[in-house]
Amino acid sequence: MPETVVLVHNYQRPEVQLLADHLGDSLELAMRAREVEADRIVMCGVDFMAEVVKILNPDREVVVPDPRAMCGMALRLRAEDLREFRREHPDAAVVAYVNTTAEVKAEADVMCTSANAVEVVSRLPEDEVIFVPDNNLAAWVAANVEDKEIIPFPERGCCPVHHAITLSDLRGLASRYPDADVLVHPECPPEVCRAADYVGSTSQIYEYCRERGPDRIIMGTEEGLGFRIERELGVEVIVPGHAVCPDMKVTTGEKVERVLEGRVPRALLVELDRDVMRDAEETVEEMFRITG
Ligand code: SF4
Repeated sequence: MPETVVLVHNYQRPEVQLLADHLGDSLELAMRAREVEADRIVMCGVDFMAEVVKILNPDREVVVPDPRAMCGMALRLRAEDLREFRREHPDAAVVAYVNTTAEVKAEADVMCTSANAVEVVSRLPEDEVIFVPDNNLAAWVAANVEDKEIIPFPERGCCPVHHAITLSDLRGLASRYPDADVLVHPECPPEVCRAADYVGSTSQIYEYCRERGPDRIIMGTEEGLGFRIERELGVEVIVPGHAVCPDMKVTTGEKVERVLEGRVPRALLVELDRDVMRDAEETVEEMFRITG
């Protein structure tokens, strides 16, 4: 049986989180993916995360427990549309959020995650930046990097789960639980981010709770992170609205167990075009270079 490591995103089902060798957000998992030495990497998340793992480990076997776990926001942006759009802005750098396909990453100059988007953009020499595909994260970056023009693309690109978290949801909960800290993900709409006590990626929200130890938080992101924070840190988590990503829940503990038993049909292997992988790798490595 090949040596296997299981990487799990914070939004996965509780039973899948309990099977993790490493649990984290996209940036943490991308960093782990660079360090692992196992022959087989099982990536429990959605398609673009497994692609990043493959891009950083082209000669290792990367397996997804269910290939139907796909991010709708990432799939909406096609590489050819980005290629055409950047022709209209020849002086702009193109920053691709990790939630993009490998083909889109191959067209971009640098990748970022929600944990480092502001840092990546602020360190670019260009004054104009095309930011794909999340308009809400682009707005968060624009609010925090004032000396650059941020051009969001595509129109209305957003995560449906985070975009559905409203200011009135947040205000309703904040008046019901006035002692709770309000922490949200930057994929939420700008007015939600502005109303929060803290805006950060899932690992940054986790760290906030670990360092400050609030009794209770109102958490504006996918509910899966709440399981981890409650279990590991004993903080009560209240989630506004119905923040559940169906794509993140496609993977079940049973499917992961099957892979761990060694049953890996070809359909579960992540395979990418070599040229796309090479160009996308430059984009991912540029992020590591810029952020040191
Ligand atoms: S939560 Fe949103 S961005 Fe994340 S996988 Fe689901 S649809 Fe994609």
